Amino acid sequence: MVERNVADAPSLTTDVGRNRKMTLIELIVFVVMISIGVTFSKCAYKVGGFWLAVPGFVLGCLLIPGSILGYERYRKWAYLGDKWMPPCSCGSEEYKPERQNDHFYTICRQCGAVYDKRKNQVFLVVDDQIKLYRTQVKHKGWV
Ligand SMILES: [Zn+2]
Repeated sequence: MVERNVADAPSLTTDVGRNRKMTLIELIVFVVMISIGVTFSKCAYKVGGFWLAVPGFVLGCLLIPGSILGYERYRKWAYLGDKWMPPCSCGSEEYKPERQNDHFYTICRQCGAVYDKRKNQVFLVVDDQIKLYRTQVKHKGWV
């Protein structure tokens, strides 16, 4: 009879901490949205009374999500999809972040290649040597 070891079972990891942080940011954005809406409606009220204050409030609230949406659309158009990482040399596009010596690297899940992403450039790390892998260029994507 074979005895199963409980420690061999795959451990479950949760993203609870990360989700809570996102919720806090969303809450702050929401509060800022409402305050911009109130400011807009106050200005509109001085100009055109109550019936201008209502659309002023809506416009003010939509200012932030509207500009975020517009910015994302612009980036998708300008960078051809705006992928945060180019595909790995092995063809995979799945990565995981890994911390080494107080620095975050991006590791390919399929072949284990180590990448270092710095803004619009991605470097390949091989035996403590780094070389430029891809650059994100407007209208061309990753080249
Ligand atoms: Zn790979």
